[in-house]
Amino acid sequence: MSRHYDLAIIGAGPVGSLCALAHARRGARVALFEASPDRHRGLKGEWMHPPAARMLQQVGVHFDAPARATRGFVVFPEDGSEMIPLTYPDGSRGLVCPHEALVTGLRDAAINEPDVNLIQARAQPLHDGSVSYTQDDAEQSLTADRIVGADGRGSVVLRLLGLTGKPTVRSRMIGVMLHGAQMPLEDYGHLLCGGPGPIFMYRLGRDIACAIVDIPHRYSNAQTGDLLVNEYAPRLPVEIRPQFIEAVHGRRLKFAGNTIRPRLSYGSPRFVVIGDAAGHYHPMTAVGLTLGFGDAMTLAEHDNFDDFLAARFDQIRAPEMLAMGFYEIFVDHRAESRALRQAVYGIWRRGGAVSDRSVRLLACNDTSGTSLGFVGAMVVALAVAKTIPRSLSPRAWWRSGGIVYRLGARVGWFIRAVEELRKSRRRGELQNEKFHDKLARVFLASTSPEDEPGPRGESSQPDGSSRGESSQQDGSSQPPG
Ligand SMILES: Cc1cc2nc3c(=O)[nH]c(=O)nc-3n(C[C@H](O)[C@H](O)[C@H](O)COP(=O)(O)OP(=O)(O)OC[C@H]3O[C@@H](n4cnc5c(N)ncnc54)[C@H](O)[C@@H]3O)c2cc1C
Repeated sequence: MSRHYDLAIIGAGPVGSLCALAHARRGARVALFEASPDRHRGLKGEWMHPPAARMLQQVGVHFDAPARATRGFVVFPEDGSEMIPLTYPDGSRGLVCPHEALVTGLRDAAINEPDVNLIQARAQPLHDGSVSYTQDDAEQSLTADRIVGADGRGSVVLRLLGLTGKPTVRSRMIGVMLHGAQMPLEDYGHLLCGGPGPIFMYRLGRDIACAIVDIPHRYSNAQTGDLLVNEYAPRLPVEIRPQFIEAVHGRRLKFAGNTIRPRLSYGSPRFVVIGDAAGHYHPMTAVGLTLGFGDAMTLAEHDNFDDFLAARFDQIRAPEMLAMGFYEIFVDHRAESRALRQAVYGIWRRGGAVSDRSVRLLACNDTSGTSLGFVGAMVVALAVAKTIPRSLSPRAWWRSGGIVYRLGARVGWFIRAVEELRKSRRRGELQNEKFHDKLARVFLASTSPEDEPGPRGESSQPDGSSRGESSQQDGSSQPPG
């Protein structure tokens, strides 16, 4: 086995495997490490937006069944009003594929390249540019011009760079496997609002569908089965409820924690992090794979690290802010978030330019900050307009004044954070871990753990009272009580 490579990639998950493939196609010699070949069997990303599907096509990876082409989203508002279909623009198609098949397909494609050497071992990068690992009970090491951490949330490359903070689990995710369920709109991802947290549901195979249920912190002590059956099942379209309840009783469940880390640094020219190692968000907007694939392909396309950074920061900022902001709007039950939610529904129902732009942003087809700013401003303006009371009752005006004030406070908080982000980037301070937390907290007022108050210490309860939320720090994916 050779001892020196152009690239050593740590982690052969979806992003690491695609990175190996894209680099090998450009003539690089790649060592690809994978510590746990079976880890991809857990609850992970399966829904890919059109840009991700295009990138897979670009490297010539085709997935047959059970992968399926997708057409967009359909949203079910919490008030039970008519569903809102949001079709991907310009006839573009996304892709949904069981995670295991996705990783196996990409990994096989990578190792079929003569210049990719898969090493099944836990890798440890060292400052001198070598990677050590144990194989056949023997300590081994190799060197590479560049070491890429595609090793997910607990990245050893991030640790080497001194960039790890304490991951805080913001909510828990439960994947419920439904057998024989008919989706209201096949080929669409179903976003069900209301209930304690949102549900994202999609077809995964001819006879199987998956519902990813978000369980916010304040329900961390609730009994899972009861919570799913009593609080979430009533939110589902009536034709799916029996399959959902049957899956819960049959324990066809998978668990994962949801931590949030904005992409503020991709490391250095020698030690690069990509995919979830660089940053990760709530799966509700399903951007993890699309952004991770973008990291991998852009890295392969740019020999110069600064060019890679410039291209990447340009493309990721809007999708990641949308991912964090969207989750906040859809999980928070306070009046100002409800007003924003109603405004978003209103824009989607009406259709037209703002709605189109928002769908392009959600699909990651449009990644421009200007579009995000435009859509955000329209949503806030509509939320304010809808808050203005139709009566002269002082009570109604007082209430609406409070909501407008809190909306203004949030917008102000957001603008200050973006400005801070820009300044920190200019000063080269993005390696600062505190900044990660700060940016994540801008969006996550409702999910802030007890020791991290939201903007201006606002309460996190629908009734305005402040109830403590326990903070899990271990990032584990244990089934709850
Ligand atoms: C519940 C849930 C639902 C999601 N749904 C979606 C979705 O629908 N769409 C979407 O786009 N995203 C979704 N995501 C996010 C998506 O799963 C991730 O963005 C994606 O898996 C990141 O891929 P990755 O290759 O960067 O990291 P990972 O998938 O975490 O892979 C990292 C790999 O590195 C290996 N590794 C780690 N350390 C070492 C080491 N020291 N040596 C060797 N190997 C190592 C691991 O074994 C693993 O195989 C979801 C996430 C969750 C939790």
